[in-house]
Amino acid sequence: MPELPDLLYILSRLRERLLGQVVTAERVGEPVVLRFAVQGNLSLLLGRALADAVRRSHFIVFRFDGLDLAVNPMLAGRFRLAEPGEPDEKSLGFALGFGEVELRYLDDKKMGKACLIATDDWKAIPGMQTGGVDILSPGFTPERFVSLLRHRRDQVRVFLLDKKALDSLGNAYADEVLFEAGIHPKTFCRKLSHDDGVRLHAAIVKVMEEAVAEVDGRAEPIEVKVRDFLKVRRKQTCPRCGSKIRTAGVRGMDAWFCPRCQPATRPGLVDWTRTGK
Ligand SMILES: [Zn+2]
Repeated sequence: MPELPDLLYILSRLRERLLGQVVTAERVGEPVVLRFAVQGNLSLLLGRALADAVRRSHFIVFRFDGLDLAVNPMLAGRFRLAEPGEPDEKSLGFALGFGEVELRYLDDKKMGKACLIATDDWKAIPGMQTGGVDILSPGFTPERFVSLLRHRRDQVRVFLLDKKALDSLGNAYADEVLFEAGIHPKTFCRKLSHDDGVRLHAAIVKVMEEAVAEVDGRAEPIEVKVRDFLKVRRKQTCPRCGSKIRTAGVRGMDAWFCPRCQPATRPGLVDWTRTGK
């Protein structure tokens, strides 16, 4: 799933290549990824110039005169810039030709959605108006974060992933943030002190700013997901203390954490530091 650093990188590259370009061709590979909240189909975009490309929540929105194409890549959606005439990928959802370059949306799982709507008709798209605070904006202050945290009764990792609260963290960066803050993923929010909250806020800012810079600096093609620099997610060994990284189920999702750097804070959790493994 593309997360915030991926989306920002993809957006900057797409803007660089496509802003102001006119749609000269369109092709649908997998109709199931397309939704239309206007009368017609993808050919409505022909002859229109791309006026802007922006992020709204976990969507990338292509803005044309009178129409927005909002794409939520979900689990496996990817964008790729191709030369016209390159063979289609099996996972092609749709393609938009912009003269000498073609924007392709690929999706192995076909779970993503691309919705064509009238300009700003966001209510036509379920799940877009999530209202979480943008974690890279100046409005994401320690005070604001701690006050959000204080009203939660769930586990801290569930809170971090809640897009109605925060815009946004996904599974990979939620693990990295909790590792950075030294907090066990199954800790209940109400057990976190004010200082824990401030530390967790600082961890979010640090991890995300570093990730944005890293992904940007690597300058990979936009279809490549750069994740090899992560510290705990899908790793074997803690880079800080050398302990074996463990996983825990949190609301049906796998959390990756270091049992020594992120000790359990409540009874009933496996104490990996005592198992001798
Ligand atoms: Zn550790």
